[in-house]
This record gives sequence, C-alpha cells and structure tokens, in this order.
Amino acid sequence: MTCNHLFQPIQIGGTTLPNRVMMGSMHVGLEGIDEDGEALIAFYRERAGTDGPSLIVTGGIAVSPEGEGGGHFHGFYREKDCRFMQRMNDEIHRAGGRMAAQLFHAGRYAHAFAGKGTVAPSAIQSPITRFPPRALTSGEIEALIEKYAASAAKAKEVGFDAIEIMGSEGYLINQFLSPVTNQRDDEWGGDFERRTRFPLAIIKAIRREVGKDCPVIFRLSGADLVPDSTTEDETLRFARMVQEAGVDLINVGIGWHESRVPTISMMVPRAGFAPIARKIKEAVEIPVVGSNRINDPLLADRLIEQGDCDMVSMARPFLADPDLLRKARREEYDRINTCIACNQACLDHIFEGKPASCLVNPRAGREWKWPLSATDNRKTVVVIGGGAAGMEAARSQAEIGNRVILYEKSDRLGGQLNLATRIPGKEEFNETLRFYRHELDRLEVDIRFNHTPSAAEIMEDKPDLVVISTGVRPRVPSIPGVDLPHVMSYPEALREPERIGKQVAIIGAGGIGCDLAHFLTEQGDHQVVLMRRKGKMGENLGKTTRWALISHLYQQGVRFLNNLRYEKIEKDGVLITLFGEEGAEQKKIPADTVILAAGQESVLFDQERLKQAGIPVVTVGGAREAGELDAKRAIYDGARLAYSTTTV
Ligand code: NAP
Ligand code: SF4
Repeated sequence: MTCNHLFQPIQIGGTTLPNRVMMGSMHVGLEGIDEDGEALIAFYRERAGTDGPSLIVTGGIAVSPEGEGGGHFHGFYREKDCRFMQRMNDEIHRAGGRMAAQLFHAGRYAHAFAGKGTVAPSAIQSPITRFPPRALTSGEIEALIEKYAASAAKAKEVGFDAIEIMGSEGYLINQFLSPVTNQRDDEWGGDFERRTRFPLAIIKAIRREVGKDCPVIFRLSGADLVPDSTTEDETLRFARMVQEAGVDLINVGIGWHESRVPTISMMVPRAGFAPIARKIKEAVEIPVVGSNRINDPLLADRLIEQGDCDMVSMARPFLADPDLLRKARREEYDRINTCIACNQACLDHIFEGKPASCLVNPRAGREWKWPLSATDNRKTVVVIGGGAAGMEAARSQAEIGNRVILYEKSDRLGGQLNLATRIPGKEEFNETLRFYRHELDRLEVDIRFNHTPSAAEIMEDKPDLVVISTGVRPRVPSIPGVDLPHVMSYPEALREPERIGKQVAIIGAGGIGCDLAHFLTEQGDHQVVLMRRKGKMGENLGKTTRWALISHLYQQGVRFLNNLRYEKIEKDGVLITLFGEEGAEQKKIPADTVILAAGQESVLFDQERLKQAGIPVVTVGGAREAGELDAKRAIYDGARLAYSTTTV
C-alpha cells in the first residue's frame, strides 16, 4: 500500500509544491500565551519539514480589528504581530516548511470587543452570537477591500509563501455571498452578481499587491448547509468567477458554524464531503483541495487518484500526529496516531477559550513546554493497568527511553476504550487501540496480561517508578432492587446487547447514558427512557458534539426524564418520584431491562508497601479521580509524567 499520488508535486501559480497535502488552517489559541511566541512556533516547527505537508496554513489572521475571531488573534495591522510572523516564517523556512497566511475577517461571527462592534453586510444577527452586527457602509466596504490587499502585501513582506483568503464557514466573505446574510439593495447586494462583488474585488486587489507568482488560495464554501443560502448552481458559478478573478487554488470548506448538520464530528463518515469537492473540480480548471474528515493518508491518496480533488487539506490529523506524512512516506501506517474526530481537546477547547490540544496526542499545543527529549538516565517504570491512561503512560515512558513493564489484569489492552468502540460513530477509537498496540510492541514494552501484581512482585522488577492506572468500575447506586436479574451495568449492556429487552430504562444520563441510548437506538426497536435526578442530558459533553447527539436521540424517540428520585427497581420497571411544578408524583417507568450508567468509582491499588520501600508511586487517570473521567483526561494524565518536568 503506497501513497504514490499524495507524494506527486503540483504546480500552484508560480510555485511547485512537493506533495498534495496541506495542513489546513486551525486557530489553536496559542497566540499570546507566552512572551516570545515560542508556543506557536514550536507547534508549527514540529509539523513543518521537507517531508511534512507542502504548505501549512496559519489560523486566521485578521485584516481589521473588528474582524478578529476571539481574544489573542493576530492582525496584520499590528507591528508587533508582523515582527512575530517574520520570525515564525524564518524559523519554519529553516525547518524546511512553507507557510500560507490565512486572511480573515469574522464579520458577524466576530467577538464584539468593547467599542469595536461587529460588522456584516446586513444587520442580521447570527443564531450563535450574542450581539447583532452593524451593516457596513459602501465606503467601509471599499476600505475593507483595501485592508485585505494591504494585509496580503504585508504577508508577503513578512515571508509568507502563499495567501489563503478565508471565504467559507460563514465568515464575512461568505456572508456577502449568501442571500441569508446579505440583504443589501446597493451595489454590494441584491442579486447573485452583486453579492459576488465583494469577494471578487478582494481577490483582484490581493493579486494586484502580491504579483502573479505568489500562490493565492480561496477557501470557498462548497455547501453552506444553512436553509435558503447559496445554491449549488450559484456555488459552481462562483467557483468559476473566483478562478477568473485570479485565484490559483480553491480549497473547499463545508458548512457554517451555525449549520445544524454535523460537518467534522465522528458522526460524519470519512471523506463524507469529497463529492462536493469533485463537483467544484469538474467546474473549474485550477486545482481543488478537498477537506473535512480526511484523516487517513491512504484515503487521501485514493481521493486524488479517483479525481475527487487535486490536493487534500488535513488539519486535526496533524494535531493528532505531527509525523503523519513522514510515517505515510515510509509506509508505516500502523504507527499513525489517527485523529478520531472527537473535537474534545481541539475545537471544544477553543470554544471554552483554552488553547487547542488533542485527545490522542496531549503534546499537541504543549510542544514548547513538553519537548521530546530522550532521558539520559534510563529507569525502570512499572505501570499497573492497561487502559487509556496506562497505555499512554507506558508508551510515553518507553518513548523517552525508559524500560517499561505493563501489567494488565485482562487479556487485552484498552480498558474503557474497548467499550467506546461499540458506540455508533465511535468506531474511530479502534484506530487509537491499534496505535497503542503497535507502539507498545515497537517500543518493546514488556506487557504481562491476565495478572494484577502484588507489591512484592512489583518490587522484584526493581522499579524506579510505579504508575497506578487501575482505572474505574461502574458505580452501583444504592437503589432497592438494584440486584434484580434484569438490571445490567453499562459494560454488560454493551457487551451482551442480546440480553436487553424491548423497554429499557437507563439510570444516569451523562456521556455514557447518552452513548448507551444511541447504541440502543441503532440496535433495534428498543423504547428507551433516559433518566437522571437533576441536570441536563449529557451535560458534560463537548459543545461541538453534544447538540448533534441530543437532537439525534430525540429524533429517535428517546424519552428523557429529570428532576426525580429513584424509589425502587421492580421486576417490570423503575418506581420514581417526579418533582414538577404541580408537586411530587410517583410513577412507574415500565422496563424489561434497567441499565446502570450512574458514573464510576476508582479502582484502588494498595501502595503502602511500595511507599514504605521508598519507591515513587504516581496514580493517574480514573484510579486517581473517577469523576469527570474521559479518554482525554486519562491520556493526558498518562503522558504528563513523561514529558512534564514538574512531575517525577
Ligand atoms: P457522568 O457524565 O458524570 O454522568 C453520570 C450520571 O450518573 C449522571 O447522569 C448522574 O446523574 C448519574 N449518577 C451519579 N451518581 C448517581 C447515583 N448515586 N445514583 C443514580 N444516578 C447517579 O459520567 P458518565 O456518563 O459515566 O461518563 C463518564 C465521563 O466520560 C464523563 O466525564 C463523560 O462526560 C465522559 N464521556 C464523554 C463522552 C463523549 O462523547 N465526550 C462519552 C461518554 C462519556 P444525577 O446525579 O443527576 O442523577
Ligand atoms: Fe482529532 Fe479529537 Fe485530537 Fe481534535 S482532539 S485533533 S478531533 S483526535
């Protein structure tokens, strides 16, 4: 299996790129988190190289202050930021990489900073922002076009190798194109031609500034996925207009931030939007980039081979594995740490105002404080428990050069991740399991299955460090009747679905309760009632994925009950007291099967003898703290020990 098509050079304007992969734009929130910008430079440096992506597109860089997409945005109008960009480009060029500056204006999606206000083609508020924008005047629109041009000139001056104009995802340029957001009746709106005037004027002004050889990329919305927005026919016409205006490469974006259709989550099949890129490719002569849920180099190669696109944009996959392309080049596909499209540590972090990282690669975004360096003092590390935290502890300790022994009480690695793979749409966790199995083998970790060692046995291994990662067990709530035969724990339900009856009551509506309900809706015609005492369904789930899962569960007829007390589990249902505005009411929720998804408790390991013997012991993952445990925290906990200088 080779990626022959991926490693073919391609001509983009006056530049030949050595391969067909670009690292797509991501706002990683590392701007301004340290004094000298090393955080962002280290992040790009680790991914750049003559054997890395042929182009790295920056996160959006604002062309005007009111267009910034959040705090700590870089802007071409700030001298300090331009000096930083020059230094960053010098460093990335030294590492053998190429950088494209993404010229950005958020329009009505911008954060309204005090005194700045948001602007848009028309004063129409987006459903996902808190403030209405102000409609730009005609004079302001003309001034803004010149700001794009000036920003492009500045980008060239500070060493960028290419320009990408952000024209999709519902940002300002996209807002001008769409009849939903552009309801002007002057020369900048009204009919389709006039709605295209702003983007086309920007392209021409940029081309005028940067000359004919500098590659100009246009990120074009292949499908807005917003009712009544730009039609497919208009999109294809616009793609041709963009080409005629002087763009060298069209990068196809999908969906707006406010779309109610998942565009990049696990629920989207791999390369699910490639047919849209293909339609655009068929409409124009310039090369076209496909994006969204392309997380596998072999798949990317196939898309190019079959003519869906000329290049691929992979963004999150480079968070998950900076060496993705290097490994593909060496045909070491099993070594790739695959992006599982969970959004939990990348997009969800950004929406929470935190720097982006990656669930499967917690070093992402932390390269500057967690440098990869081999230990000069090889230690023996014993890890107890081979779930997510334990596998990562073992892998990262072995990666820095320590000898690692990993004890696992069952006959397989993965712990709770094995359960996650059974949830519809979460099959990508199989890639994470494949990665760990392969890496632990490659790094010669001594894995001892089917055994929990005693303290005496561990001491025989002469460890310098013991990592306890014994994980969690499901909590059994103290509800009368919990030991009846039709009551199952969530691991039992996922492993033995054939035992589950038609009417199902789930106790607990956190992430696992919701996942279980999803699992059951795909299993057959179960009638599912999801319950919790207080709070919302799937309350702790990430902002970018929760809405899609919850609306899917409602569509599938899952009933949700809260504000209740569990009284008793009986053989035909669960007796509860419901607290409503009218007072308390007792109710029986009929159920053939009751499933407990009421959180977890830590599985403890007696460390006393090890401590008495003076052996350092660290507890990680669910064994340290069961509440709020998810794969992100477990893997982070396992990795922190090896890379962070502040721990053992
Ligand atoms: P969780 O989200 O903390 O939810 C636990 C549920 O159990 C709550 O609904 C809680 O509801 C209920 N509960 C707790 N103690 C109870 C008791 N004594 N009696 C009855 N009910 C009780 O935990 P989880 O669902 O086990 O998930 C574990 C972690 O994995 C969470 O951090 C979760 O976010 C994460 N996870 C994430 C995903 C994802 O897709 N991102 C998927 C699955 C899990 P009340 O206390 O209101 O009754
Ligand atoms: Fe991919 Fe999840 Fe990592 Fe984001 S956090 S890059 S979606 S694996």
